[in-house]
Amino acid sequence: MLDVFLTVDVEVWCDGWNDIDAQFPSAFQRYIYGHTPRGDYGLPHQLHQLQEHGLTAVFFVEPLFSTRFGLQPLAEIVSLIQERGHEIQLHLHTEWVDESIEPLLDNITGKKQFLRYFSLPEQTILIEAGAKLIESAGGQSVNAFRAGSFGFNRDTLRALAANRIAFDSSYNATMFGLDSGVSPEVPLVEPIECEGVYEYPMTVFHSGTRSLRHAQVTACSHREMEGLLWQALQSGRKAFVILSHSFELLNGSMNRPDDIVVARFRNLCSFLDRHRDCFQVRGFHGLTPDLAPSQPLPLTSPVWKTGLRILEQGIRRGFR
Ligand SMILES: [Zn+2]
Repeated sequence: MLDVFLTVDVEVWCDGWNDIDAQFPSAFQRYIYGHTPRGDYGLPHQLHQLQEHGLTAVFFVEPLFSTRFGLQPLAEIVSLIQERGHEIQLHLHTEWVDESIEPLLDNITGKKQFLRYFSLPEQTILIEAGAKLIESAGGQSVNAFRAGSFGFNRDTLRALAANRIAFDSSYNATMFGLDSGVSPEVPLVEPIECEGVYEYPMTVFHSGTRSLRHAQVTACSHREMEGLLWQALQSGRKAFVILSHSFELLNGSMNRPDDIVVARFRNLCSFLDRHRDCFQVRGFHGLTPDLAPSQPLPLTSPVWKTGLRILEQGIRRGFR
């Protein structure tokens, strides 16, 4: 049995920083509900698919936007997710820090895109503020975290430990993982303990090109994802962490569903439902960490699947 974490990062962007107060209401509808002439393909669609297949996902919810626009929209997100019985955990995009009406930190100097640009005391304050916002919006206390854009470092784990948040899923070997200061020698692909926190890295794989890819619904075909899940099970991996976003089933212009990605998400749910004797889709609450004694190499997906995915991605782009 392999633990699978189906994680969805939930966040709102105004697609720029000018006139954000006027932009926010429509941005919220777009990024959270995903309204299109063909129906809603945002969070409600994902929640519906998960329910159809009896699966529980982990929603990493970004709350700092509410320091600008108020708690009500955040409470709306929390209630949508919680009433379907899924797990709400914390996601922080520090791009919002300098937009807050009440300053979150002393001496804020402009925009800082990643949490790793903040000192340990600042990271500790921001994580505490985020967790409190989720609770004020009606969520339960969080025990897992993911930094926005995976922009974390070793101090983030110290800041999480100071906030009694036991799990982190910010390590991504395709992004900042390798220079995060966590496991600098060997890319992390399996859970480890570091600075008093259990790190559950994003699942990454080789696909015949030089760079690693991460297991994200928009970035992998269903054929690749299925193959990687079987390979992880057969090689005795401890955890498989999949990434999606609340707006990921929309096309680039966010005005219609991306049919290929909609099908990937549905196929993934259906696959995990059919094979629940092999894959346990779960969250971080009540999790007893099962740590790997050493780090294996990343999973590998055959080149022919890469070729077919490149074709599929080309079709998706053609329809944007
Ligand atoms: Zn994010």
